[in-house]
Amino acid sequence: MYWAITVKIARNPLKAFLCSALWLLLFSAAPSFCSVQKLGRDLYAYISENDASSNSTFLVSDNGILVIDTGLNSEEGRKLLTEIRNISPAPVRWIVNTHYHQDHRGGNDVVGPDATIISTAYTRKRVKGTDPQEYRLNAVVDKELTLYVGTHPVHIYHPGPAHTLGDLVVFFPDQQTIATGDLFLTNSCPAMDEGDMESWIRALDEMLRLPLAHVVPGHFELANAKELRRFHDYLVALRDQVKALYRDGLSLEQVKQRISLPAFKDFRQFPKYEATFADNAAVYYTQLQRRAKKP
Ligand SMILES: [Zn+2]
Repeated sequence: MYWAITVKIARNPLKAFLCSALWLLLFSAAPSFCSVQKLGRDLYAYISENDASSNSTFLVSDNGILVIDTGLNSEEGRKLLTEIRNISPAPVRWIVNTHYHQDHRGGNDVVGPDATIISTAYTRKRVKGTDPQEYRLNAVVDKELTLYVGTHPVHIYHPGPAHTLGDLVVFFPDQQTIATGDLFLTNSCPAMDEGDMESWIRALDEMLRLPLAHVVPGHFELANAKELRRFHDYLVALRDQVKALYRDGLSLEQVKQRISLPAFKDFRQFPKYEATFADNAAVYYTQLQRRAKKP
């Protein structure tokens, strides 16, 4: 289980005590307020207790901190900043927004009022005109960027269309950790924006070729390569099934009713966010239709 093998933070002795006491008491439950987990030297995952707000990852050095995603709003940003300040007083110098969805960048102003905000041109375009923060998305990654934080290299790259048309993924080679944004959710159906299923699966294939001790998902529990592979396998199974039904000439409605993925029945599904097996099937079905129409 992930929380048994990751190192809990000992910087805040009271919190560390409460966490271990609760751990012993509940044995198998992950206490929700143990939200920060140390992943490697200088690297931490912030697992949000609010499912509607993103997880974050942060890398600490004496002359600046890098933060990946900042949560839904100022309130969530403040919670994250409090945890960061338990670990380091250094300024937050860089923020990566993995994509344009509000739940990943709503805390930018609180977490790093003076930080350089790194995103893709697509994210910048989506935010433009709709958000007073737009001027702050001031660094754009086309393909990839290597940033050095202290002595740690950080690979920031655009994997091609996936969850949206402009996602960024962040790999920390020293700590064998990847922050996936919403390209991966632990044991959960994803919400699909205007991305691309085939390209998304390729992006996950690439991630799975990396050495991975930890995987920080866009939402929910800290994970590892095994859970990332299972999510990948879900998308592959969904793609194969929808493609076969589409080729048999079934309508969208029929496909939505027929889709059956019992191997993944433990996955969370969210009708409210159009994130169910049927919703995911519908998105891919329309991608196939669109592709067929192209000359
Ligand atoms: Zn998203």
